[in-house]
Amino acid sequence: MLSVEVKLPAGSYRIQIEAGSLDRCGEEIRYISAAKRAVIISDERVWSLYGSRFEATLANVDFQVDSILLKPGEASKTMESFAQVCGKLADLHVLRDHLIIAFGGGVVGDLAGFVAAVYMRGLPYVQIPTTLLAQVDSSVGGKTAIDLPQGKNLVGAFHQPLLVITDPNLLTTLDKKQLAEGMAEIIKYGAISDEGLFEQLEEYGGMEKALPHMEEIIYRCCDIKRVFVEQDERDDGQRRKLNFGHSFGHAIEKIGNFRTHSHGEAVALGMVMAAKTGEALGLTPKGTGERLRRIAEAYQLPTEIRADYKEMILHMSIDKKKGGEGHKLILLKAIGKSLIHTVAEVELTNILEEVLELA
Ligand code: NAD
Repeated sequence: MLSVEVKLPAGSYRIQIEAGSLDRCGEEIRYISAAKRAVIISDERVWSLYGSRFEATLANVDFQVDSILLKPGEASKTMESFAQVCGKLADLHVLRDHLIIAFGGGVVGDLAGFVAAVYMRGLPYVQIPTTLLAQVDSSVGGKTAIDLPQGKNLVGAFHQPLLVITDPNLLTTLDKKQLAEGMAEIIKYGAISDEGLFEQLEEYGGMEKALPHMEEIIYRCCDIKRVFVEQDERDDGQRRKLNFGHSFGHAIEKIGNFRTHSHGEAVALGMVMAAKTGEALGLTPKGTGERLRRIAEAYQLPTEIRADYKEMILHMSIDKKKGGEGHKLILLKAIGKSLIHTVAEVELTNILEEVLELA
């Protein structure tokens, strides 16, 4: 088993990564929790695939188990679902010394984590991430949230889990698009912080050869995220580097009305744009954008963007953090080394129009 210890002022917790660990989850959870009852929050798809196995491992160690299921997908990360889940917890007479378990992808993790943060002013919770994106990203770091009609993740809290248990074998039932979604974040970790990981991904040359090494890859990603979270739990400084490709990516998602490109696809395009922007500013070695384009292609992420530069800059301006001049972008000094750099709007507009050749 590989494990990462996240050490924060409020306490530490462990991320355990091991193929086949789903069937031993109960023992691991029992080791850190004396709760009599556990309430699993999951979605219908994950539950139909793995629910009975997961329930059995908890019952084996004397948890009284209840489950609350959501419809799969982002449409469940709403105030309405949140209210329904809290109502069900109240109907079940769930108390503060009981345990919440988030068993699913990032949607389940974000919603269940938020419920755990605020129901009865906070309950302990455990994350069992089941998508690649959740295993390398959303289950780590304690950010929880739900969406509003006005925007994504607008209501949330920082609430760290007691334990994260990751079983890469669960990835065998994910579809290709969902795997690519997680891969975009893995490429990002290599690009901002781990040249060796990036080169390894280049060497595998695609998902098929990378999959057998997933335990090690997930471990490296969680460890990179751990470093940023420990330095900056509340995301006011260095943790923002984890947003490499996201300023451009969010604008791409919005231009397509969240239908043309998924989040991971938009981030993959955004990383290429960020690298080329760094090249244009003389901060990033020439050819880095092309390396990112090639790796995105190898992992079946899109590489062609058609967007109006004026529309792009408009969305980036709405999205940018308030209170500063210009756009605070995450750029690369090299593959494996990132920096936060402010670019004036007029300069960024020129780069989008002339270097990135947006129409
Ligand atoms: P998701 O949770 O909607 O899962 C995607 C689909 O995969 C769903 O249909 C789900 O039922 C299915 N699925 C899950 N596990 C499966 C498995 N093992 N086999 C087969 N199907 C499976 O989406 P996601 O991509 O995991 O997460 C996206 C969410 O994560 C977004 O809401 C995003 O805002 C959030 N997020 C949060 C953070 C954070 O730090 N909290 C970071 C990144 C993303």
